[in-house]
Amino acid sequence: MDHFNYQGGQLCAEDVPLSRIAAEVGTPVYVYSAATLTRHFGLFRQALDWTDHLVCFAVKANSNLAVLKLLGDLGAGMDVVSGGEYARAKAAGVPGDRIVFSGVGKTLVEMRMAIEGGIRQFNLESEPEMHALSALAASMGATVPVAVRVNPDVDAKTHEKIATGKSENKFGIPIARAREVYAEAASLPGLRVVGVDVHIGSQLTDLDPYRAAYAKVADLTRALRADGHSITRLDLGGGLGIPYRRDNNAPPLPIEYGQVIRETVGDLGCEIEIEPGRNIVGNAGILLSQVIYVKKGEGRDFLIVDAAMNDLLRPAMYGAHHDIVPVREPAVGAAVQPFDVVGPVCESGDTFQKGADLPEMAAGDLIAFRSAGAYGAVMASEYNSRPLVPEVLVSGDHFAVIRARPTFEEMLARDSIPEWL
Ligand SMILES: *Cc1c(COP(=O)(O)O)cnc(C)c1O
Repeated sequence: MDHFNYQGGQLCAEDVPLSRIAAEVGTPVYVYSAATLTRHFGLFRQALDWTDHLVCFAVKANSNLAVLKLLGDLGAGMDVVSGGEYARAKAAGVPGDRIVFSGVGKTLVEMRMAIEGGIRQFNLESEPEMHALSALAASMGATVPVAVRVNPDVDAKTHEKIATGKSENKFGIPIARAREVYAEAASLPGLRVVGVDVHIGSQLTDLDPYRAAYAKVADLTRALRADGHSITRLDLGGGLGIPYRRDNNAPPLPIEYGQVIRETVGDLGCEIEIEPGRNIVGNAGILLSQVIYVKKGEGRDFLIVDAAMNDLLRPAMYGAHHDIVPVREPAVGAAVQPFDVVGPVCESGDTFQKGADLPEMAAGDLIAFRSAGAYGAVMASEYNSRPLVPEVLVSGDHFAVIRARPTFEEMLARDSIPEWL
């Protein structure tokens, strides 16, 4: 469920007509709903209310400071994968003891930053990283809490670019070697083993891969405890999928996901951490865009819009689908026709959808790409020197610009020409 609905013939974000945002901020622009963010975060909490838990929002899905502040104020922890994300979480007011640091390539600079600023736990992804962190922490006179990310060799049945739990993926340590690695971690200075971490991929639409992975984590936890480790936390990752098509079977709900967690690891008495990103923010955002031209082609009509692949990369990168809807509500029974919806960038890959069914469209009309709150603005670039797409947060009947569109001057000012040119 989200808060982007037609009211009075106009698509609104909560109670704000999108046409008002387009008029005041311009297009393209991302628009997020605070009510949807709040609701989705609450669903995960509710799904785990049977146990001690921390819902750590995966910052990489949407790292705008206002989004992080909203979730942080609700009590969310943060899952970060870079020094920049750590800095954003802190700047949004999230205390270090609610920040988990994941990622396969943490640098010494990033690790130091997190140790100094406070950290709940590092999720270790390799032995070289484990040794580097131990040496760094020891040199700083610190002992840092760690979990080892295990790779359970489970097929998440999702897009190959976002599957992370198979042995051929670069993530984590093979679960078969985990006991050895934990023994070594426990012997190193600077580290304190607190938990086990797993994350098998993103946009999962089936609970079976979770069930398989978490059952393996439960077995491992028992074995590690028998080996003498104190395992008090399980970080079970993120990845629960969202419906990208209105008319499609919906993926499982957070409450059903919570039941799988309870059934597989619930008897271990561990505090449960999860790291949802897409499921919290995906359907809490849309990308608002305006039609520049309607171009009649041979056998097909193109809707050339002012959003492009640099603003929303997912269709070009993953072949992803976003429902495209007109902002002016079509009359009941209005005829639709297929359009290829494309952006202005000079690549054929800059195609959002082929044959999208839309009512009659004209230059100046507004459209919305639904389900664009996750992996949307965060992946935006200025390719073709199109200024970085702005973001707006709506709450009830008001909205605020939470990232402004740079002017051409601001965009150009980031470059410099050496004096010897
Ligand atoms: C990407 C990622 C997540 C979030 O995945 P979603 O599909 O957005 O829920 C969580 N944890 C880790 C380690 C990740 O890399």
